[in-house]
Amino acid sequence: MTSVFENTFVLRSAALSDGATADVYLKNGLIERVVPLAGAGVHAAGGPDAGVSAVELDLAGYLLLPSPVEPHAHLDKALLGSRVTNATGDLAGAITAIIEAYPSMTGDDIGRRGLKALGEALAHGYTAVRTHVDCREEIGTAGVRALVELRGRLAGLADLQIVALAGGVGGRDGAANRAVLAESLALGADLVGGVPSLEDDPTASLAELFAMAADHGRGIDVHIDETTDGGTFVLQQLAERVLASGFAGPVTASHCVSLGMQEPEVARKTARLIAEAGISVVALPQTNLFLQGRETTTRKPRGLTAVEDLLSAGATVAAGGDNWRDPFNPMGRIDAMETASLLVSAGHLLVGTAYECVSTHARTAMGLPEVRMAPGFPADLMAIRASSLEEAVAAGAPARIVFKGGRMVARTEVATTLDPLFG
Ligand SMILES: [Zn+2]
Repeated sequence: MTSVFENTFVLRSAALSDGATADVYLKNGLIERVVPLAGAGVHAAGGPDAGVSAVELDLAGYLLLPSPVEPHAHLDKALLGSRVTNATGDLAGAITAIIEAYPSMTGDDIGRRGLKALGEALAHGYTAVRTHVDCREEIGTAGVRALVELRGRLAGLADLQIVALAGGVGGRDGAANRAVLAESLALGADLVGGVPSLEDDPTASLAELFAMAADHGRGIDVHIDETTDGGTFVLQQLAERVLASGFAGPVTASHCVSLGMQEPEVARKTARLIAEAGISVVALPQTNLFLQGRETTTRKPRGLTAVEDLLSAGATVAAGGDNWRDPFNPMGRIDAMETASLLVSAGHLLVGTAYECVSTHARTAMGLPEVRMAPGFPADLMAIRASSLEEAVAAGAPARIVFKGGRMVARTEVATTLDPLFG
């Protein structure tokens, strides 16, 4: 494999999502030039600047895209797999299982599993990951410390953002968890997180989380709700709080499942508030399809937020994988192509919009600079063996080449042998 430190590339004959074929030049971490080709396989005149040694890659047969980024993961729980099982299969069962597993989730254990999961993420094309990490009285800051250390080790390979996911913070009972949250922020967690809908008083919980974020100058990313009860309105409360307070930091609302269960006019009104407040919403189809709707065997709800209404209102809608093979989602594939595919199947989005949710919109939600296939934009790119975006999302081919800041950070090659009949 070409050294990850190589930073000047000429990517020959790459297909782009608009149907064009181009030679794409990467230099100093950026896309330097995009030279459309008159016909497939015809290289543009010229080459890298004199005196610059560039690595040329033939990307014929590959589609070159802005890389996906993961706006919502849980690296502290990733790859627990069969080590921790969810007895009931629902959210309550997952939470019970994970709290029972806390004693075995040491910093070393979290760091090891987190690194393995991130390696898989990188190979699948992710160049940035936002992870939540449990920080509460029962586990303390072990996970935060492990992931802060991992963030440093990965510098230059992938951007890691850490959300301190607090336990109950409301009222007098929340004092111990508030202290762990404050310590987590002091240790280097980037954002304030919590689960207000699971607290006795979601309003009080939101107030504490916003106060903590303001005190520490951080943004907020909250798990809004994971319930198919359409009578839950924490998302609406969040928007009203942001609009009324003028909170300056970025705000992200994750899951927001109940919005997808409300009457269309009710959901649309909240969607407009979300857009007005500049809140990013993160849909998490894999986990919510797994956890929600278990109370019935027929007419199962999809557990997906109202993605179409949110997009129509002009809100930023990102999508992520959430849990990567743990009690909340044993099937996590760590692949944005699966997330985008589910947005098409379960959310009824067009393929192009679905891919924007896991790339462009996810970058916006994470506060990362935009990537376009044009000069001057960051060279955070994924080449995937496919001839079109539809094929890339549907087939999710494992053959991929990943660039982060113009450096090749992962390359997966696959050899398939078939009967000559298949050509
Ligand atoms: Zn989550």
